Amino acid sequence: MLYFYNTLTRKKEFFNPIKAGFVSLYTCGPTVYDEAHIGNFRTFMFEDLLKRVLILSGLDVKHVMNITDVDDKTIKRASEQNKSLRELTEDYTQRFYNDLDWLKIIPADEYPLATLHVDGMILMIRTLLEKGHAYKEDDGSVYFKVDSFQDYGQLSNLVFEEQLTTSRIISDEYSKETAQDFALWKGWKPEDGEVYWDAPWGKGRPGWHIECSSMSVEYLGEHFDIHCGGVDNMFPHHENEIAQSQCSSGKPFVNTWLHSEHLMVEGGKMSKSEGNFYTINELKSQGFTPENIRYQLLSGHYRTKINFSLAKKQEGEKVIRRLGDFKVRLMAELNQDSQSEDLPAEYKIFKEKLFIDLDTPNALAVFFEYMRKMNTKIDSGLINIDEIVSALLFVEKFDYIFGIIPNDDITPDEIKTLAKKREAARIEKDWALADEIRSNIDSLGWEIKDTPSGTKLSKK
Ligand code: AMP
Ligand code: ZN
Repeated sequence: MLYFYNTLTRKKEFFNPIKAGFVSLYTCGPTVYDEAHIGNFRTFMFEDLLKRVLILSGLDVKHVMNITDVDDKTIKRASEQNKSLRELTEDYTQRFYNDLDWLKIIPADEYPLATLHVDGMILMIRTLLEKGHAYKEDDGSVYFKVDSFQDYGQLSNLVFEEQLTTSRIISDEYSKETAQDFALWKGWKPEDGEVYWDAPWGKGRPGWHIECSSMSVEYLGEHFDIHCGGVDNMFPHHENEIAQSQCSSGKPFVNTWLHSEHLMVEGGKMSKSEGNFYTINELKSQGFTPENIRYQLLSGHYRTKINFSLAKKQEGEKVIRRLGDFKVRLMAELNQDSQSEDLPAEYKIFKEKLFIDLDTPNALAVFFEYMRKMNTKIDSGLINIDEIVSALLFVEKFDYIFGIIPNDDITPDEIKTLAKKREAARIEKDWALADEIRSNIDSLGWEIKDTPSGTKLSKK
């Protein structure tokens, strides 16, 4: 039973996928004119969390994230750096994939590049022209006629009393005060250089909004389940996507819209234009681990603003160490076989918190309370093997969602090699050598135990 806050209806709604057991998910990807910053990754991590929760609930997810590799910003940056558009965007796209991987974000099923999908965009614009929702201008541009769509403003809850039908806006981003006809196609200008495509109404390039309308339809169909982005995408980007998609297909577009709040730095929005942002590489060089960044980003609810500060690093390290120690302690107690596959009662509560609009702060609180209880039990020696096994199962589920427990294999390679040699000696029944290796491991501060489920190494 999943419930999400739907921006479109401004209510927490029961989530019912269009096709039973399957979720189609589209998330707006990065504009690859620079390295993504930790603010962007707050949004991408929230989308990853959503996907993990959907999967945990038993649904199959098809996730599409576009790469905006042509727009006003990419063209400008490429020309400033004397690079071709492709050279610039390929480099930043690769860096983006590397950052996603380092942050343990599950890759999308598809990452369509806008530049490889212009044909579909031209088709959609043609349909909009044919249906009277768009018009051409003398410079070869095509605009969407905002007053031809009655529901314009429904997502951002805006009522436009005085629609300025005669005014147009060519730039991709603009404020709510200027809800004007927006560009679907931008006629070629000399500063665009080599960047253009041929369309029936003249050469030029697509506007940013049509990119997402067209690619989402191409990969997920005209009507799909969930569309996400950061709150700043709500207007005009998502509002315009709805207008374009619904007017061209004549069908509903997306059932559920989810938007994550911004990541702030010292009270202000982290953004490239403000110059107050951290890239993943900068945070890496400050000693942040992926787990620590994940903890910083996931410990706040996705619909509240959170403040990122370098000062929170130590607090994160402490939490992560406690989690890692808990897992190691449980592993060390795993000295008998158990058939138990039961998860503890707390897991149900943990899941409920996540299933009701991704309440990560409270899901974390449930887990931390459980961890405290279990640690006390282990201290008192009153824990049984079934409880250990079910705690380890809970740890696994917890970490599937949060990904904040450091790689549990903290065993140094030297110790692992010794353990392998000892195993070989035991197979050869060379007990003297096996014992010698055991004491060698022991003198290096590690303990080796032979349990019915195999050999276990733990730090003494
Ligand atoms: P962009 O590369 O500018 O197209 O942004 C990619 C994604 O990051 C979009 O979904 C934005 O809404 C989101 N975003 C940008 N800045 C922030 C921020 N400070 N906090 C959270 N999300 C952000
Ligand atoms: Zn988009």
